[in-house]
Amino acid sequence: MTRPKVHIVVLGGTITMAPQKAGGIAPSISGGDLVAAVPALSDVADITVATPFLVPGASLSFAQMRQVDALIDEALAGAAHGVVIVQGTDTIDETAFLLDLTHRHAGPLVITGAMRGASAAGADGAANLLAAVTVAASPAARDLGALVVLNDEIHAARFVAKLHKALPSAFGSPDFGPLGHVIEGRVRIALRIARFDAGLAAPMPDAASVALVSTGLGGDDRMISAVPDLGYKGLVIEAMGAGHLPGNLVAAGEQVAKMMPVILASRVPGGPIFASTYGFPGSEIDLLGRGLLSAGFLSAHKARLLLALSLGAGHSLAEITEAFAAFQ
Ligand code: ASP
Repeated sequence: MTRPKVHIVVLGGTITMAPQKAGGIAPSISGGDLVAAVPALSDVADITVATPFLVPGASLSFAQMRQVDALIDEALAGAAHGVVIVQGTDTIDETAFLLDLTHRHAGPLVITGAMRGASAAGADGAANLLAAVTVAASPAARDLGALVVLNDEIHAARFVAKLHKALPSAFGSPDFGPLGHVIEGRVRIALRIARFDAGLAAPMPDAASVALVSTGLGGDDRMISAVPDLGYKGLVIEAMGAGHLPGNLVAAGEQVAKMMPVILASRVPGGPIFASTYGFPGSEIDLLGRGLLSAGFLSAHKARLLLALSLGAGHSLAEITEAFAAFQ
């Protein structure tokens, strides 16, 4: 039997962080050193590793993610059975979804990181890397799109969220739970999800600039109204509950929706945006009737990425509406 080949691409994050003279931890451990610190990886697969950059998750850019997308494509079109991306957990929910949008290979694409720095007691980096490589090498993980593996759980990119700032169990999929686990070195997938088609093909297009505006008790409409003049090409509104805005924000939302796509998302993690329940000013029925598009079960951050790539690819409003329909 041929041994699986897994290509690891290390981008930084806490998993690569070590104490600095000036204080605090910062990215400093290369992919080669990270892999060398986990000898058990070679029991699972033949490993190759690249470190295109070492940055905190929050500083990853669209340009860098396009570069990563090309590296994944090159590896999976070549000899690799699977690819593991190692990065900061602050943006894993976003990068996994972004990469999933254009990922068309059957070979597993797994994103991982760590909640504790490399030299912390109980550092979770080695265990997460080993589990991620185990999934990337597994035929059971083929055809599932981008997966996020931390804490021995396997999550679908479209559902996963970072739900805690500190715990190794920080990642969850609030809507449907994890797809499976890695236990005793074996990949156990309990749920298989269908691939989705958001109308985006590799290579990853340039991202258009899309504003994300959140809402809170007693808020006003100034941020929403300012969006067109700031040069944004689209807007995501992180509304309340099942897709509700304070009544005094409705006119601004409708006005902007006449000028660019406006996506209605929610600050509540679980469940979809409603479509047909509430009838008050600022309700989902009211807002969708005024031209806002539903994010469905996508978080505001994931909705922003889908809109940014769709606009970057030059898609029409009808095509964007269809892309979001895949997530209702
Ligand atoms: N601040 C870190 C980062 O995203 C957090 C982590 O990796 O867990 O780079």
